[in-house]
Amino acid sequence: MADSPVVEPNPILAGLACRCPRCGKGKMFAGFLGLKPRCEACGLDYAFIDAGDGPAVFVILFAGFVVVGAALVVETLYAPPLWVHAMLWLPLILLTTLLPLRAIKGVLIALQYHHQAAEGRLQRRGEQ
Ligand SMILES: [Zn+2]
Repeated sequence: MADSPVVEPNPILAGLACRCPRCGKGKMFAGFLGLKPRCEACGLDYAFIDAGDGPAVFVILFAGFVVVGAALVVETLYAPPLWVHAMLWLPLILLTTLLPLRAIKGVLIALQYHHQAAEGRLQRRGEQ
């Protein structure tokens, strides 16, 4: 990640578009969530990327808020049978988890690159 940015795009927009965080042109993903080894446009090596569980956490929080909130409102207002809940919330769970997952992962990767975030390392005296 020592490479300096070529033309740094807005990290949020580049991430939402799932584009390279350095040039904003090359595609970042190969498949749904798998990453390409490097940018096809500027050659940025994607080995630095470590989104970890971040995208899943944000998706869980978002989907949980939407689905549980909607289920509570429907249950309180209409008290439908359980099969109605299943028919309503299972598709909504799929929509609120699968649709934003890739874009959120792209944003977190772009922000990691933008802020040059990396695993913390201890520095001994005399080292730079
Ligand atoms: Zn690039």
